Amino acid sequence: MQSPKRFGCLNCGKEFEVRSPDDIYTEANRKYKKASYDDMLPMTKECLWCKEKNEIYWYKPNSN
Ligand SMILES: [Zn+2]
Repeated sequence: MQSPKRFGCLNCGKEFEVRSPDDIYTEANRKYKKASYDDMLPMTKECLWCKEKNEIYWYKPNSN
């Protein structure tokens, strides 16, 4: 089980946690890296406070 990653909401700045969807995509990043599209899983996390939809992208380790 991966430990959760913490991000701040883009709209209100409140912190939230996201967990890896599986054991393959374990690196979370805000940035969409087009070059590694095939090695990426997008995740939308709705902020509990302001309902902003924060996009998180999960990558395979060492895929860059
Ligand atoms: Zn928010």
